[in-house]
Amino acid sequence: MKSPAPVDSRRRQSAVRTVSIFGATGSVGTSVADVILQRRGEFEVDVVTARSRVEELAAVARRLGARLAVIDDPSRLDALREALAGSGIEAAAGSAAMIEAASRPVDLVVAAVVGAAGLAPALAAVEAGIDVALANKECLVCAGELFMARAEAAGIRILPVDSEHNAIFQALEAENAQAVETITLTASGGPFRSWPEEAMRRATIADALKHPRWSMGPKITIDSATMMNKGLEVIEAHHLFAVESARLDVLVHPQSVVHGFITYCDGSILAQLGAADMRIPIAHCLGWPSRGAVATPRLDLAAVGSLTFEKPDLQRFPALSLARYALESGSWATNILNAANEVAVDSFLGGEIAFLDIASIVAESLDAAAGSLGGSAIASIDAALVMDAEGRRIAREAIGHRLRIRVG
Ligand code: NDP
Ligand code: MG
Repeated sequence: MKSPAPVDSRRRQSAVRTVSIFGATGSVGTSVADVILQRRGEFEVDVVTARSRVEELAAVARRLGARLAVIDDPSRLDALREALAGSGIEAAAGSAAMIEAASRPVDLVVAAVVGAAGLAPALAAVEAGIDVALANKECLVCAGELFMARAEAAGIRILPVDSEHNAIFQALEAENAQAVETITLTASGGPFRSWPEEAMRRATIADALKHPRWSMGPKITIDSATMMNKGLEVIEAHHLFAVESARLDVLVHPQSVVHGFITYCDGSILAQLGAADMRIPIAHCLGWPSRGAVATPRLDLAAVGSLTFEKPDLQRFPALSLARYALESGSWATNILNAANEVAVDSFLGGEIAFLDIASIVAESLDAAAGSLGGSAIASIDAALVMDAEGRRIAREAIGHRLRIRVG
């Protein structure tokens, strides 16, 4: 296991920290804005971005007093300018503007875009030498080796926002990195934790979007229902902490109180506990290495009463095994796993395929890609994105095939 880099003295000294938020209109982005507004005076916001929701982007830009708002969809630029009129906030649009915005000199870029679409701006921030608070786990599933190698070369910090990884980051003793035996990520088990397979077969979109513990964007909520989210997180942990698959465990913990823990070689276990509220790990990353006061729900353990843990059911949640298979197969496989999963989740949310089809489409896509792409390395962002596009094409073909069989 890799030992964490020493704390950069600049981070300790600067009074006001400048932050850019990519994916500012989303679930994580909104929580980031909330923490910043609670700690006004400590942070200045430079850039906020979104894909297409102009009104929400302009509103968050005004609330935070941002300098620049960037919308991914170029056809929305005039609407963004109109929504920002009189505010003095600059507007820009399109993917080149997004990369340029990610390279502006700030203390921290928060990467909270959903999906592989967030890879290019996050990597641009890394290459500009900026620390990244990473929520966008798909970046690491799509191109983790490349991403971490570039971060190391640039000498920057990746601060994990994802609650389980943030828990591990907090429990990790820098001087004892070599004494880590295993890392355990907990999972709520999602809405179908206790559903029989037969019922899961008929699960509706509304059933799958009803997460028992966390309020999140639609894509990660479906990933939690299939438990692909935990699979993506195993891959994320592998890259963040340089730990191999065999030493990364998953434990279902329906109360979502213990977010993750490290077992050290002397038998001690260090865990992080907290309410299921993303503002807690976000505040930790924004202030790191210091802690600042944030009004979040406090955990009342007497009210929780008991904590339970169980092994995941790999039969009903095959996505978890698929992710582990991909991790053990190499970068090409995790890239395809992510691309196929993004397409399959979209297709499920669009009403085309059934819930259990999501994991099947991912499995078929990995199988289909193995022949042509198996063993390929990912040495550049272009290579990562070309492979991602191919994964999406293969997954769409698998879905098309399934729909044709159904019609026929
Ligand atoms: P949301 O869907 O709520 O928000 C996504 C954000 O990204 C929005 O601002 C959206 O803009 C923007 N966006 C979406 N697609 C693109 C694109 N193609 N190009 C540019 N911007 C885009 O997602 P979440 O906040 O739930 O999740 C964000 C990331 O954080 C994911 O990787 C997720 O796995 C991870 N994460 C989320 C947690 C949570 O509690 N939500 C917990 C842990 C990790 P617009 O509003 O215009 O669509
Ligand atoms: Mg998580």
